[in-house]
Amino acid sequence: MAFATRSPNFSAGPAALPEPVLGQIKDELLNWRNTGASVMEVSHRSEVFIEMARQMERDLRDLLSIPENYKVLFLQGGGAMQFAQIPMNLAGPGQVADYVDTGHWASKAVSVAKQFVDVRVVAGVAATDQKVLPREKDWRISKSPAYLHYTANETIDGLEFHWVPEVDDSIPLVGDFSANILSGPLDVTRFGLIYAGAQKNIGPSGMTLVIVREDLFGRAHAYCPDILNYEVLAKSESMYNTPATFAWYASSLVFQWIKNEGGLEEMRRRSLRKQELLYRQIDSTGFYTNDVAASDRSYMNVPFRILEQRLEEVFLTVAAENGLLGLKGHRAKGGIRASIYNAVPEEAVQELVDYMVDFERRYG
Ligand SMILES: *Cc1c(COP(=O)(O)O)cnc(C)c1O
Repeated sequence: MAFATRSPNFSAGPAALPEPVLGQIKDELLNWRNTGASVMEVSHRSEVFIEMARQMERDLRDLLSIPENYKVLFLQGGGAMQFAQIPMNLAGPGQVADYVDTGHWASKAVSVAKQFVDVRVVAGVAATDQKVLPREKDWRISKSPAYLHYTANETIDGLEFHWVPEVDDSIPLVGDFSANILSGPLDVTRFGLIYAGAQKNIGPSGMTLVIVREDLFGRAHAYCPDILNYEVLAKSESMYNTPATFAWYASSLVFQWIKNEGGLEEMRRRSLRKQELLYRQIDSTGFYTNDVAASDRSYMNVPFRILEQRLEEVFLTVAAENGLLGLKGHRAKGGIRASIYNAVPEEAVQELVDYMVDFERRYG
């Protein structure tokens, strides 16, 4: 395998972007929409930029069928900023907030929220051979929490909720969709708030998507600064200050790309095929292992090990030599991880599977 230009890219984030989007960026980089300047060099308040921003929001609303009573915000600070911004905005003094702790990112969300609100961890993932997500019937939900937070996809641990948790209507459900937003249809009406850093399944880093139900405005702590206040940010159409204009632009092209490719149903179909291909290979002989129960395996991030762990370094080195990018597991966990977001084509996953077969033949 040799890749003269672009290689199969399994990076967890910043991650692969659709090639047609990169092509369009390249084509119009020097002179965007006849402005005589690049998109990075024009005012975010200019008519041409605002028109692009409004179209971007319309496209996203179309894709996810976002109802009118939800505001769409394009912010900065990443998923991690939301760990703080959510409790600041949604939990009043003396309230508790419920968290489901399913792995690395949920735990981070818990530890940050503790700085702002009385956090109750209502369920976790037991440390057994096969990790299983806790089902709602086992969640010890508080009497009337300000909200209930869960991590829809654990990007490092490789777990994903393939359902939206059923909770009482009176409890705003908050979901961290940083890695799996737009990987398939999602019923936004079940949520109080959805958030996602862009750099996994949307666009370049620098932009964070927040979809928030309007009736949750007005609950922010007195010390929540305006620049972090969802209501203020919504009123200014996410332009309280200068937004990440290039990330907005690139993300707008990704939304259009998804629409052109057939929307979220099509993204889901592709994703189902890709994950099936990869997990089937992992499970085939016992040479490779994955520690998540089949029902709860992530379709976006596929962490795996080699039973004989000393071979992992060789696997990664030879993979890199063959032009397979971004396969090293997260530093907190080690091992191997393939992220197979929307922009990773099925052929790339097939290349990886071929490499796995070949590697096993040589070293197994
Ligand atoms: C990557 C990730 C984050 C952190 O995102 P940043 O944008 O780096 O702050 C949070 N939650 C999940 C589920 C993630 O995958």
